[in-house]
Amino acid sequence: MKDAYDILVIGGGPGGAMAARTAAEKGLSVCLVEKRPAIGAPVRCAEGIGKELLQEFISPDPRWISAEIDSAKIIVPDGTSLQLDPQFAGNEVGYILDRKIFDRELVWKAAEAGSDVQVKTRAVAPILENGTVKGARLEFCGKVKDVTAPVTIAADGVESKFARWCGIDTTIPIRELATCAQYLLTDIDIEPHTTVFFLGNTIAPEGYIWVFPKGERSANVGIGISPRCCGPGRRPKDYLDRFVADHFPRGKPIECIVGGVPVCKPLQTTVADGLMVVGDAARVSDPLTGGGIYNTMFTGKLAAEVAASCIAQGDCGCEALSVYDKEWRKSKMGKAIERNYKIKEFFITLSDEKLNALVKSISHINLKEFSTFTLVRELITRNPKLLLELKALKDSIS
Ligand SMILES: Cc1cc2nc3c(=O)[nH]c(=O)nc-3n(C[C@H](O)[C@H](O)[C@H](O)COP(=O)(O)OP(=O)(O)OC[C@H]3O[C@@H](n4cnc5c(N)ncnc54)[C@H](O)[C@@H]3O)c2cc1C
Repeated sequence: MKDAYDILVIGGGPGGAMAARTAAEKGLSVCLVEKRPAIGAPVRCAEGIGKELLQEFISPDPRWISAEIDSAKIIVPDGTSLQLDPQFAGNEVGYILDRKIFDRELVWKAAEAGSDVQVKTRAVAPILENGTVKGARLEFCGKVKDVTAPVTIAADGVESKFARWCGIDTTIPIRELATCAQYLLTDIDIEPHTTVFFLGNTIAPEGYIWVFPKGERSANVGIGISPRCCGPGRRPKDYLDRFVADHFPRGKPIECIVGGVPVCKPLQTTVADGLMVVGDAARVSDPLTGGGIYNTMFTGKLAAEVAASCIAQGDCGCEALSVYDKEWRKSKMGKAIERNYKIKEFFITLSDEKLNALVKSISHINLKEFSTFTLVRELITRNPKLLLELKALKDSIS
């Protein structure tokens, strides 16, 4: 590790890896630091991503694809299910990854492009000069080292501290940090190419349970709920254990993880003088689904592209870097976050009865295309009376 780089990337998840790779491919000197001893572990993810979305960044490789998905099912409390046609469901959740290998592959590609990579290395403070971020103080193997860079990219995930240390308000309202638990269950009967989502206030208040296949007889079975719905006997793991006892009583958990997903609005700003914030650290995961792999890769790549042009022009001030902030907000991803936040805020108010009625109303139709947006639009169109209160929502998302 040198003392100075063009770009210092903090965090070796998919966001940091994309940023490092993109910057290195543009000929910049880059260092990526990761506090954990190994890239990709432990995995805190259900590992689902749309096929087309993934292919924007990397060609699929069987080494890190655990399952290919061709259909999705939504099940509401009365058992009504909405099965999405194979040819339309794939875009939303098309692959279940093996992130232990996938994350490593992304970092490997960054290294191959020329980026330095340093694991077991934690950023402990920004280097600030007159309010401008000039790099970070790093701790590794008991040693401390200052590394400078005109641009630092904070890709330090949901528990991000770096942007806050630099003066950006990164607070997540407590109810909007979905709290999750997940088992990798094996020896269970599943449909190996179908993802299943269970909705309902009794089984997953203000959230949902997912079953994402990881092979013929294994699946990530997890839950995300709002912390305001938690209490004694009502932790995510309690809900999940009840669900597993009901649906997969003979399943054997070979991994158990817990984690948080920001389902809030993105940060007010994702840039400061010398600093860019990407991925979960910027709170750009989808507030409706909790999916963040695509969004973090998108923002990581875009941040590096903008940083490269700012470095070339010799201006890495907040205003110059804000091209990144503006670009992601007006991108398809940025618009989807804005829209899905409103949809999420509406859906968490629905009673189980309304959920049942809504899904029943569209359970027999063939959606021409599947995305959370078309699904919600169809629900609204088919339920003009029930959803009178949705007029404002419809107007705001159309
Ligand atoms: C239970 C669960 C299920 C999920 N399921 C899905 C899903 O199916 N599909 C989907 O798209 N998304 C899913 N997500 C969300 C997805 O995992 C995240 O959006 C994604 O990992 C964010 O990537 P990132 O690079 O921004 O952050 P991360 O992947 O969290 O990477 C950040 C990295 O920064 C490192 N770091 C932190 N602080 C420092 C520091 N000071 N110095 C050095 N390194 C540091 C961390 O160790 C970490 O490795 C899920 C999340 C959870 C919790």
